[in-house]
Parts: sequence; C-alpha cells; structure tokens
Amino acid sequence: MILVKDVKKIYELEKSQVVALDSVDMTIQKGEFAALKGPSGCGKTTLLNLIGALDIPTGGDIIIEDQNIAVMNKKKRLQFRAKNLGFIFQDFNLIPELTVYENVEIPLLISGIRHKKEKVMKVIEEVGLATHVHHRPGELSGGQRQRVSIARALVKEPPLILADEPTANLDSKTGQSIIELIQRLNKSHGITFIVATHDHFILEKIDRVIPMMDGRIMN
Ligand code: ADP
Ligand code: MG
Repeated sequence: MILVKDVKKIYELEKSQVVALDSVDMTIQKGEFAALKGPSGCGKTTLLNLIGALDIPTGGDIIIEDQNIAVMNKKKRLQFRAKNLGFIFQDFNLIPELTVYENVEIPLLISGIRHKKEKVMKVIEEVGLATHVHHRPGELSGGQRQRVSIARALVKEPPLILADEPTANLDSKTGQSIIELIQRLNKSHGITFIVATHDHFILEKIDRVIPMMDGRIMN
C-alpha cells in the first residue's frame, strides 16, 4: 500500500516560490492500476517524482512498503529506488549505443544482481520483442522503444512501477497497445502501477482515476 499524507512541495525560485503540491492525501492499494489526470502544470510529475523517491517533499509523509521515504537521506532513497521501483518515461530514456538486451539488463547490473540471460529474455518476450533482442533503439519504432523501457522497468519485478505520460510521444493506436500491455502486466505480475496522463483512452480503461488541479487532488 502507498500512503501519501498531507504532502506539500514548494519549488524555491530566485525571487519567488511555486507551490506545486498543496496538501495532497492519497492511498493506493497494492496491485492497483491508478492514473493521475489533470492539466499541464497541476503537479502530476512532481507527485510521481516524490512517490518515486527522486525528490523529497517540503512537508508530509509518503509511506511505501512500510517505509517513510519523505525523511530518507539521498543514499537511502537510492537504495529504496533500486529495490522497489521501476520507471517508464514519456521519452523512453533508452541508451542509444546499447542493444535491446543490454538496455533491459541495466537495472540488474546497477544493483549488482547476479542473473541469468533467461531472466532478461523472459521480460523481452513478455513485451513482444523477442525478435529484436539485438537491435538498437534507433532501429526501433516509438512503440517498440516504449516496450523496451517497460521491459527494463519490469526486469527486477519491483512492487511498484511509475509511468509519466507513457503514451504522449506515440500515435493513438500504438499508445493503446502500450496501455493494454501495461494492464496485462499489472494483472499477471500483481505490480502496482501509477500512471500520469491526459490520454483519454487510458482514462477510459482504468478503474482508478485520480483527478488533480492546481497541486491538489479533487474529490
Ligand atoms: P504536470 O506534470 O502536471 O504538468 P508538474 O509537476 O511538472 O506538473 O509541475 C507543477 C508545477 O510546478 C508547475 O507550476 C511547474 O511549473 C512547477 N515546477 C515543476 N518542476 C519545477 C522545478 N524543478 N522548479 C520550479 N518549478 C517547477
Ligand atoms: Mg508532467
């Protein structure tokens, strides 16, 4: 379960402040597929970054896997991320010089996890790229690139995967197939997914939509 309690995030600029999140409360159950929806600038990315332990809130608590990540130091957060989280980005964030296999293997190498080739191959197969294992990102379509980034998020079987506008750079048909893939993985692996989006197709297909506006959750 993920518990977000009275979370505030203020970005300090040189001469002003931006209140990006203003007292956000939210609970997400284990295995849930939830979507944060709202206009550009409402705080979706900020909230995902906090839940993903990429940044710390100005105030409040964020409890994941029984740990309050809001009070962790940088090193602890890094360890927490490596153990518990997978990320899927709008622009895929793949390393162009590496093959599909090598990109997917990265999280295992970083964590120093000893692993077998079959483990990497299994997730590549799951996202439908078994025939493209030795391709580099530049040789793949946008949808295929996003599948690589999904396999990379999945390879360590984290309890939680966060996706920031995963279909924003894809045409609608490709975007739909990516969401259907994520939904399948959510069901078959029991991994919790939180997706930030304004993609109507996603919002129609998802049970739990969390509307945001001006740094708050609307109820
Ligand atoms: P969304 O993802 O919903 O578009 P963001 O979380 O990116 O929203 O942004 C929320 C608000 O915080 C916006 O007003 C944005 O300009 C501001 N913001 C986001 N990141 C920063 C930053 N690093 N420094 C200053 N302001 C920021
Ligand atoms: Mg955003």
